[in-house]
Amino acid sequence: MAKFLGKPQAAVGLRRRVLEAAEKFRRAHAPLTPERMAKAIGVDIELTKLSGDGMLDPSGKRVLISRDQPPRRQRFTLAHEVVHFLIRSDDELLSELHEWYQGEDLEAELESLCNVGAAEMLLPREIVAARLSKRGVAPRLVPDLAESHQVSEEVAAIALAERSSTPLMIVIAGAKPLRVFFSARSSGFRAQLPRGKMIEREHPLSIVYDTGLDYSGQATLPGGFRVYSLEAYPRAGRVYALFREMPS
Ligand SMILES: [Zn+2]
Repeated sequence: MAKFLGKPQAAVGLRRRVLEAAEKFRRAHAPLTPERMAKAIGVDIELTKLSGDGMLDPSGKRVLISRDQPPRRQRFTLAHEVVHFLIRSDDELLSELHEWYQGEDLEAELESLCNVGAAEMLLPREIVAARLSKRGVAPRLVPDLAESHQVSEEVAAIALAERSSTPLMIVIAGAKPLRVFFSARSSGFRAQLPRGKMIEREHPLSIVYDTGLDYSGQATLPGGFRVYSLEAYPRAGRVYALFREMPS
């Protein structure tokens, strides 16, 4: 029981350690070109056909990256694999992780930590904090930050969710019929939204997509029941959205 009660603190501690490791790596190896990142952990990059985004080759000598991704997304995938490597080489962090998480939970937490670390490498906290201090978090910051700092929109979404002062989920959606491309949530936001999830035609996100008009109001997550406050913003064939828990 005591262990259960301590889990949120453990999760915060793990995130902090991964952020520190990512920051240290960035300072030591900047500018983080793909070549410099790979060299720093002693691997070669191989662009290849993959079902997923990327993986560390079991031999530990190569990082395989999906060749079908755009270059910014490949750089993010590589940074994600670098964080896997950093976590794997940190015995203390590893044992902490295994103490609190098992099975699917462990996988999910590890993937989320690697995303948070990768975002920190490519889009430092100071930059995101400076942007948030001006007008707070807004959906349009996802494409804006991605463009101004030449990172993928996934990186921008993760960094913004991580730095937000209130728990929220950021969703990037697109295609027809509309579906979830990516979602990132702050550690306090409870619900999840898997990639590829279809969005109902009558959902406000579909209406934003169809009309090209901003939305600010209430909505459930696609396929969900619980009501959140929602801000959504359409741009260039995509919809960027912020879901926040309603004050209870
Ligand atoms: Zn991973």
